[in-house]
Amino acid sequence: MFHSKTATLQNSVSVMVYSLSGLDQLTEENVAAAMAVVEETNLSRILVTNAAGRILYDTRETGGAVGEYCLYTEVVQALLGNDANNSSYRRGAFHSRAASPVLYRNQIIGAVCAYEYDTEQAALLEGLQGNLLRLSAVIAVVVAGLSVILSRALTQKIGRLLTAIRQVRAGAYSHRADIRGADEIAQIAQEFNSLTDRLQTTEGARRRFVSDASHELKTPLAAIRLLTDSILQTEDIDLDTTREFVSDIGQEAERLARITEDLLRLTRLDSGAMGKPEVVDVLPVLEQVMRMMNLVAQEKGVELTYAAAEGCTVLAAKDEIHQVIYNLVDNAVKYSAAGGAVQVSLRWRNEQVVLQVADNGAGIPEEDLPRIFQRFYRVDKARSRAAGGTGLGLSIVRDTMEKRGGTVEAANRPEGGAVFTACWPYARGGDLA
Ligand code: ADP
Repeated sequence: MFHSKTATLQNSVSVMVYSLSGLDQLTEENVAAAMAVVEETNLSRILVTNAAGRILYDTRETGGAVGEYCLYTEVVQALLGNDANNSSYRRGAFHSRAASPVLYRNQIIGAVCAYEYDTEQAALLEGLQGNLLRLSAVIAVVVAGLSVILSRALTQKIGRLLTAIRQVRAGAYSHRADIRGADEIAQIAQEFNSLTDRLQTTEGARRRFVSDASHELKTPLAAIRLLTDSILQTEDIDLDTTREFVSDIGQEAERLARITEDLLRLTRLDSGAMGKPEVVDVLPVLEQVMRMMNLVAQEKGVELTYAAAEGCTVLAAKDEIHQVIYNLVDNAVKYSAAGGAVQVSLRWRNEQVVLQVADNGAGIPEEDLPRIFQRFYRVDKARSRAAGGTGLGLSIVRDTMEKRGGTVEAANRPEGGAVFTACWPYARGGDLA
C-alpha cells in the first residue's frame, strides 16, 4: 500500500516537474501559470519552491504558505538533487509525500512537492482488519471448543485403556479393554487385548504345568515317606524287608531325579539355552542309541532292528539328537509287549532327514494322538509310571525338534502299533558357515 502510494505520488510530481521544465527561473507568477495547466485533483497539497526552499506556490486549503521556507525532508532532499518520498499511516489516515527537483540546464532551480492525505483507503483497510479480527476470534473459539471435545473423548479412551491395563496387571487376565473405533487408541487397545489373550493362555499353561509338576513330584515323595514310616514304625523289622523297602526308596528317588532332570531340560528349551549347532551325522548317534537300547530290548524280549542311509546330516547339537532318538526308541520298547518288534529307519528325502520308529505294540487311541506331546500327558498313567515314564519325554522331543526347525508326528500303523516320524531340515557341510 505504502509502495503503490509513493509510486503514484512520485509519478504526479514528475508530471508537474515536466510542466515546469521549460522555465529558466521560477517565480510565483510563472509557476502559477504553469501549474494552472496541471490537473491534479486527488492531491491534498502541492508545493513549489525555488532553489532556496522558499515557497512560490501552495494549494493548501487552509491558506497557502507562499513566501515561507519549506522544511520538509523530502523538499530538502529534492533541492539536493534527489527524488524523495515517504508514506506513513497515522490516526486512521495515510500521509504520503513525494518531492523532485526542477532543473534548468542541469541547475536545480526549485522543487515540487506533493502531499496526499487519504482516509478512504485507510477506512477500507481498517474495516478489513476488523473483519479479520472478528473472524479469527470466531475460529479461535470454534477450535478451542473442538479441541476440548476431542481431548475429552481422547482422555476418556485413554482412561479406559489405563483401567484395563491396571486390572490385567493386578491379575484379572480375563479383563479386556472395550474401545471401539479405528483410531490409534483403538488399535493400541486391540493390540493390548491380543497381548492379554496370549498372557492368559501362557498363564493358564504355566499354572497347569506347575500343578502337574507338583503332583508328579508329590507321588514319589509320598511313597518315600510311607516306606520310611513303615521301616521306623515296624518293630523287629527283619533285614530282608528293610532291604526291600530301602531299594523301593532308592527307586522312587531315581524317579524324582528323572522328573527333575526332564523338567530342567524343558526349562532350558523354554529359555532357548540350546547347545551350539553343528553339522552332525545322525547315523553314528543312532548306532550309539541302538547299542544302548539293545540290552533293554533283549531283557524285555523285544526285537530291535534298524536300517539307515549314509549321509544324513542335520544342523543341531549331538546331545539333542541323542535325546530325541533315545526318547522315541525307549517309548517304543517300553510300550511293546514281550515278543514285539521295534523297527527304526533313518533316511533322507526332499531336503529332509527322516527318522521313523515303529513298533507293533498296542498303539495310541485316536482321540489321544493330538495330546500325547503335551507335558505330563499319558494315555495310561499307571502303565507309564510302572514303566518308569515321566510323561515329559515326548514334549521334550517336540520342543527340541521345533527349536531346530524340525517336526515330529505320531500315528497308528494299520497293522497295529504306533509309528513316530521325526524330520530335520537336511544340512550340507557348508551350512554352518
Ligand atoms: P512317558 O514318560 O509316559 O512315556 P512320553 O511323553 O514319552 O511320556 O509319552 C506320553 C504318552 O504317549 C505315554 O504315556 C504313552 O501313553 C504314549 N506313548 C508314547 N509312545 C508310545 C508308543 N510307542 N506306543 C504307545 N503309546 C505311546
